[in-house]
Amino acid sequence: MTLQRKITYRMYPNASELDALERWRGLHCRVTNTLIEEHRRRHEAGEKAYSFSAMCKDLTAWRGYVDALRDLNAQSLQVTAKRVALSFDAFFRRLKSGDAPGYPRFKALQRFGGWGYKTYGDGWKLLQPEGQHGKVRLSGIGTIRIRGKGRFSGTPKTAEVMCKGGTWTLSVTYEVAQEALSRQRGSEAAAFDWGLDKLLTIAKADGTLEPVDNPRWLKSKLDAIKALQRTVSAEEAKAQLGLAADAPLKKGQRLPVTAKLKRLYAQVRALHGKVARQRHDFYHKLTAELVKRFAFLGTEALAVNNMSCAPKAKHDPDQPGAFLPNGAAAKAGLNRSILDAAPSMLLGMLRAKAAEAASVFALADTRKVKPTQRCHRCGALVKKELNDRVHRCACGCECDRDENAAKTLLRWMLEGDFWPGTGQTGSAFMAEWPSETPPIAG
Ligand SMILES: [Zn+2]
Repeated sequence: MTLQRKITYRMYPNASELDALERWRGLHCRVTNTLIEEHRRRHEAGEKAYSFSAMCKDLTAWRGYVDALRDLNAQSLQVTAKRVALSFDAFFRRLKSGDAPGYPRFKALQRFGGWGYKTYGDGWKLLQPEGQHGKVRLSGIGTIRIRGKGRFSGTPKTAEVMCKGGTWTLSVTYEVAQEALSRQRGSEAAAFDWGLDKLLTIAKADGTLEPVDNPRWLKSKLDAIKALQRTVSAEEAKAQLGLAADAPLKKGQRLPVTAKLKRLYAQVRALHGKVARQRHDFYHKLTAELVKRFAFLGTEALAVNNMSCAPKAKHDPDQPGAFLPNGAAAKAGLNRSILDAAPSMLLGMLRAKAAEAASVFALADTRKVKPTQRCHRCGALVKKELNDRVHRCACGCECDRDENAAKTLLRWMLEGDFWPGTGQTGSAFMAEWPSETPPIAG
């Protein structure tokens, strides 16, 4: 049995390598936009959709007469075409199902991520002891110093070169034998609820609670981003003033980007990148620690996509064409916090690590178990609004909302059938557990 695992290395290009990386990124961005344009043209002319094989054929032809493209790795161009194909597949799928999807957009160079390689040895090669710091040779670009390591060794398969917030990374997917990934299995059992104020509230099988707070640096970094954003806004206002006295920008007219603004934008991008990297690192350490301690872990499967999508526009029935306030501003703030907490990243890491330790990671169906509403003591549903922080049940149970949710999830995981009418049980997971497991304290 083999599993796929990614290691992301930070790249340290020298000046000429950086030039080449930027040039390649620009070319891949232009290829992407050219392919999108041809897609649109065909779609608008009612022609047959632009298939992946047709794109690859065109790419081969373009390479014949565009010198710049000839330097690029042929497979990496196919990977770029594949990405465009996937975004159009999703577009047509949504169109078919009756949605009104937005057309795949042209990509701005500043936001364009990078490119990929699909076969090891074709255009890229690692020069390093496996999983250690070293170098990567990218044909046509150079031999670039990289840093980063994983806790396993494996066979490199595919790679992605990415630029985010001014930092270049190489993300390599390895095929790894399952044995090479095995982790020490914990012995305790617990379930947790995740939140925005408190990252995790862990209810342990011995009856105690353990909160895990968001790290302090996160708060200070977010404050720093906010402060920087204010400077940017002030500078943008100045740029606009210089443009035309108190006149709003006309449609299609763009702010002149001063040298100072350019510098500020780069600072904002760098800070966002730093927060993302630090959080990623923090989550890795936290999830490794949890898996080391707990053989059984449970939480609820959250439909994050539903929680963070934009609220629907509300039409004003009295005034056709006008809109009523729909709480978009309030929701935007909440969205940001949800994204900051990045629960899906946390749960994904836990799932992978629990598999490596062969321990149980159980996800409750939120709609059936309703951990926030359900009383952990008696199982009754107690309706709560988003800002009700306390659980108060007719059975006399009174505790913090997050504590109740975590304890409800724990009971679901350990007892399953205890919950009348939930129709979902955690005990299915328990059946897979080998019988020599020590009994869990109630
Ligand atoms: Zn109760």
